[in-house]
Amino acid sequence: MTSPDYWAGNRPDYIAAHECGHALPFWAQGIPLDYVAIIGHGTMPRPHTQPIDVNGGSLGQRLLVNASGVISGFWRNNRAFSDLGIAELLIASADGCFETLGSLSGRATRIPRAGLIGPSEDLEPAAWLMGGEVCAYDHAIRYWRECERFVASVTPAIAAITPHLIERGELPGAEVALRAAVAMAGQPDPWLPGWTAEK
Ligand SMILES: [Zn+2]
Repeated sequence: MTSPDYWAGNRPDYIAAHECGHALPFWAQGIPLDYVAIIGHGTMPRPHTQPIDVNGGSLGQRLLVNASGVISGFWRNNRAFSDLGIAELLIASADGCFETLGSLSGRATRIPRAGLIGPSEDLEPAAWLMGGEVCAYDHAIRYWRECERFVASVTPAIAAITPHLIERGELPGAEVALRAAVAMAGQPDPWLPGWTAEK
């Protein structure tokens, strides 16, 4: 689950935070993870997060995996999502871009959505679902904000794992689970959206 066009020129720590954001939902939802890589692995030439069963998990569980990687990476770059930006990202955009806001400055930056929504890219499944919704706007905002709440709840694990992923290029799923458990010890449980429990 990658977005190579958007990644062009991006730093390893951004890519690692993005992939950690994909990996932690697998751990939090009890879906076995094979490995997470910010380098090529086997026949896959680019960063990706690989579950043991590529078809495992419910649709909602996979949608959380997809958005959480994007959110984690953008947060690493100090970019936040406005409601407008979420709607532009997931539903429609007049200029092909979506708005993000500087976390500190509040300054708006428009980023091409094509790097994130396209065949096989991170947010394609969510965009297809939102496009068919009667209340697409409300649905999109809720979906994204609840994914953000999940990412915020596993921030200690992302912070703990990202440096190891940068250093080694890839980590086995078992090590991700172990490091996540250690980092989250004494913290509240990861917060999971209710729709991840739906089939
Ligand atoms: Zn991705």
